[in-house]
Amino acid sequence: MLGFGCMRFSKKGNSIDIDKAEKEIMEAFRAGVNYFDTAYIYSGSEAAVGEIFERNGIRDQIKIATKLPQYLVSNNAALEKYFKEQLSRLRTDHVDYYLMHHLTDIAMWEKLKNVGVLDWIEEKKKSGAIRNIGFSYHGNTDGFQKILNDYDWDMCQIQYNYFDEFSQAGVDGLKAAAAKGIPVVIMEPLRGGKLVGMLPDSAKKIMKESGRDWTPAEWSFRWLYNQPEVTVVLSGMNSVEMVQENCRTASDAGAGQFTEEDFEVIRKVTEEIRAQEKVGCTGCRYCMPCPKGVDIPGTFRCYNAMYIESKNEGRFQYAQTVGLTKEPAFASQCIECGKCEMHCPQNIPIREKLKEADKALRPLPFKIGINVARKFMFRKSEKK
Ligand code: SF4
Ligand code: SF4
Repeated sequence: MLGFGCMRFSKKGNSIDIDKAEKEIMEAFRAGVNYFDTAYIYSGSEAAVGEIFERNGIRDQIKIATKLPQYLVSNNAALEKYFKEQLSRLRTDHVDYYLMHHLTDIAMWEKLKNVGVLDWIEEKKKSGAIRNIGFSYHGNTDGFQKILNDYDWDMCQIQYNYFDEFSQAGVDGLKAAAAKGIPVVIMEPLRGGKLVGMLPDSAKKIMKESGRDWTPAEWSFRWLYNQPEVTVVLSGMNSVEMVQENCRTASDAGAGQFTEEDFEVIRKVTEEIRAQEKVGCTGCRYCMPCPKGVDIPGTFRCYNAMYIESKNEGRFQYAQTVGLTKEPAFASQCIECGKCEMHCPQNIPIREKLKEADKALRPLPFKIGINVARKFMFRKSEKK
């Protein structure tokens, strides 16, 4: 139920504080956590967990999930090169869950297929070097379903929390995966800590007065565990106390435990967070699809993130989910046909707000950065 996200270990100088990480990992292991999620690009993480698992002799009692840096792969040889390096860092001869990291649309998966990833996966699964294959996802709901239905995946990983119920893969993506019998691992259950650290006081008050003795983090985890479609919730735990609190919650929570009153608390808390937003978009997607390919709810979500989280966070999300898909979905592509506005239940002046959002989300340095990244990511790939 609870997986250990290995991206946020504390640092000592420039490298991971391995002794502290070991204490946290072993505390979690003793409490029953057996799923550890890392990635090639989490600086120092694979090597650190590899060392900790070996030191403590627990490799055969835990599952390792790690990820192919698919954005760095442009030919078939690169698949093997990265995988071998990962096995060596992790001090193991197999990976239990191997994910295509950070897909944002089907084009990225197509690119991998073009360099021969399907044959490569088959060979690795046959030899036992990879036990399960999956992908982690950060694009929109439509893109998620396309990738989901394009291959016989063993699992998938999505960003999901009560504030993102209708963004990225969203609740529809979660249910679609579960309907196919595909386990779903949840990342960002606290939206990178924002559903704890950046909750408005009014939202904290609602939780406090609910009669439940739950911390903001606990509310988030319990909301997830309440959904039977959720298989594992990852948490980037970087203190023993956090491990203990999360283990307690996971042991106590379960599907179907939320009452009507609990849902009402989450609804009110979400409302309080939304009150800080720039555009009152609920992410319902009634305005979609746009004939010019604009990701309307995605743009507003990022614009709002600039005000709820931070300017750069919103801009980063815009670059990632709207700008770095094969077909970009920028607000600037809008030709002002007005079709979307006829369907918006919130009566948002979409055309006007899109202009405002794109201007704020893509200042010159971000424009340049996105163009460079696009050139790199969508360069021609080769099979050999
Ligand atoms: S007004 Fe703009 S965003 Fe709306 S449907 Fe037309 S082109 Fe798309
Ligand atoms: S219809 Fe309106 S509220 Fe719904 S996603 Fe589109 S802009 Fe947002």
